[in-house]
Amino acid sequence: MSEKHENEEQLENVSQENEQKNEDYEEVCFLCRRPESIAGKMIELPNNIHICTDCMQKSFDTMNNGNINYMDLMNNMPNISMIDLSSLQGQIPQNQKVKKKARKEEEKPEFQLKDIPAPHKIKASLDEYVIGQEHAKKVMSVAVYNHYKRVATDTMDEIEIEKSNMLMIGPTGSGKTYLVKTLARLLNVPLAIADATSLTEAGYIGDDIESVLSKLLAAADNDVEKAERGIVFIDEIDKIAKKKNTNQRDVSGEAVQQGLLKLLEGAEVEVPVGANSKNAMVPLTTINTRNILFICGGAFPDLENIIKERLNKQASIGFQADLKDKYDEDEHLLEKVTVDDIRNFGMIPEFIGRLPIIYTLNGLSKDMLVKILKEPKNAILKQYQKLLALDEVKLEFDQGALEAIAEKAMEKKTGARALRAILEEFMLDIMYEIPKDDSIGQVIITREYIEGTGGPRILLRGQEVPQIEAGNY
Ligand code: ADP
Repeated sequence: MSEKHENEEQLENVSQENEQKNEDYEEVCFLCRRPESIAGKMIELPNNIHICTDCMQKSFDTMNNGNINYMDLMNNMPNISMIDLSSLQGQIPQNQKVKKKARKEEEKPEFQLKDIPAPHKIKASLDEYVIGQEHAKKVMSVAVYNHYKRVATDTMDEIEIEKSNMLMIGPTGSGKTYLVKTLARLLNVPLAIADATSLTEAGYIGDDIESVLSKLLAAADNDVEKAERGIVFIDEIDKIAKKKNTNQRDVSGEAVQQGLLKLLEGAEVEVPVGANSKNAMVPLTTINTRNILFICGGAFPDLENIIKERLNKQASIGFQADLKDKYDEDEHLLEKVTVDDIRNFGMIPEFIGRLPIIYTLNGLSKDMLVKILKEPKNAILKQYQKLLALDEVKLEFDQGALEAIAEKAMEKKTGARALRAILEEFMLDIMYEIPKDDSIGQVIITREYIEGTGGPRILLRGQEVPQIEAGNY
């Protein structure tokens, strides 16, 4: 009796296990053989047979259209009997099923439009990551706050306030992309970064203008609603300035500006899903750009000359003509930019009109570069320190070393972008050699090491040693 009981229990356990196994796999449609993830929810029939709704619908349609009484038909044919469903059990072997994707961890709470942080809080969060650029951070915080407040209260239409689309002007590597990325992460909204140089008028080689929205949609996991309140950053916007002195059709310049107008303003746009251009094979969806925040950024080389020219012209009126080179050394020249200057640069007035918030970023000074190395929350130095700390080695940089790295970066004229490359070059040897020797407790990077005239200071665990030449340890 008890043996029988045990057997029953065992059987039950096995069947529970099987059920569990089955739960890990997607059901497959018995007719079209598509898995659940593609065909959608399945209708379960007895004997573990699953049919997708499409196939079910098709079967009904055929029956309804044919006007055939199947029951009569079958009853009159001696050789045909109703399909015995029980004989079909297990028709689809497990090895033909796709394992369900692991369920993602609970996502971060959705961005609550209602409780957008106040501008000073947004700026304080930006401060943790972005060094300097105080004016830009302030302008962005206010603009983003206003934008999302309007989105949250849905007053975008009622009060005819212009959208807070922005134009960001600043040299390469000054943190334009970084600012936008940080902002999108803080607000937890999807972000698409597009390069204006790759855009062309529809029908020409290059990406269609709508592709920027496709990217946003992808960043929002194809969730249209989420994408509709995202941020689009269009980099290198200065590269789509109107071409001067050209008789050809300007498919990658003025035409792109024209194409972007309706996106910037807010429109229903048909967007290819998962592709850069519309064609017969790509599904389309409609995205309303009314609540999408567009930020355009560019280095605008030569803009300084245009500003200088205008200022000089103003200055030459009357008795001030002698101040002609007054602006040559002006570090804050870019800040004096006006809409007219940008138009002279080659942006069409309608385009500038749809970017009401214009601000500039400063080129990075040596001091700022030193700060960028060590201060942000995810500073490059902190990253290396953490890496070496895993080997229980302390890593330090003396002030001279930091300055030497900043000086090298300044020479490259690519802003903060050069810092990582320079540091990586010097850290390679350190990262290679240090783990060899367990007795090393501390490494101090010196100016001499960066300048190639000496080595880093290596200190043994608990015991200081004289400086060792690079390569000798
Ligand atoms: P761009 O202005 O050309 O878009 P990026 O924003 O791409 O420049 O900057 C390149 C990298 O330099 C960023 O990933 C970031 O790590 C660093 N960086 C640039 N500016 C700053 C800054 N002001 N503060 C902190 N890091 C910065």
